Amino acid sequence: MPQNSQRLIDTDVYSTHLREKAIDLDGRKLLVTNFHRTEQEKDLTEPPNCGGFGRVRHFRRATSPGWIANPLPLDPACKALSLPRADMMRAQVFQNAACNWRCWYCFVPFNLLSANPKYADWISAAKLVEMYMEQDDPPVMIDLTGGQPDLVPEWVPWMMRELQARGLSDRVYLWSDDNLSNDYFWKYLSAADQELVATYNK
Ligand code: SF4
Repeated sequence: MPQNSQRLIDTDVYSTHLREKAIDLDGRKLLVTNFHRTEQEKDLTEPPNCGGFGRVRHFRRATSPGWIANPLPLDPACKALSLPRADMMRAQVFQNAACNWRCWYCFVPFNLLSANPKYADWISAAKLVEMYMEQDDPPVMIDLTGGQPDLVPEWVPWMMRELQARGLSDRVYLWSDDNLSNDYFWKYLSAADQELVATYNK
């Protein structure tokens, strides 16, 4: 359902505000949405997993009639994991609890985008990977979504290091995309973290 907002967002100011509320650098934790007892939970085709912090998404190549097929992230994932071409893949989704925009078409309720601790909790990358591994038949893909993941660009390299430490980096495909509104990857990540993201599993 469209969710209209009458106020214009100052993206830079709001991004700064939300970043402060959505990442704990000293504790190396992120504010991650818990879907239990949220409006979004009612939209899920499968119940939340990972203690409420995860959900399973089905990426499909086919789109709506008249639209071109979507190869992302199916084709790069299959290539990286040496899997045959797939038209559908399950992905383990984790959702950061902040976004600096309020698109009218967004399927995420706005109260899950404001870094509201009522619907989220502080979780480390290690804990996310641990919960992911504890489930039966974990998907071969983890999708770090939002929200706006680039408000907390540390999330991706932190997850990469946890997957590497467990020997999972060549068996689990890590995917993340964002709304391209920030330059936080370059502004906040160390050179070592940028290098890790650029060279991960190459
Ligand atoms: S950028 Fe994405 S998560 Fe943020 S409001 Fe728009 S659709 Fe929703």
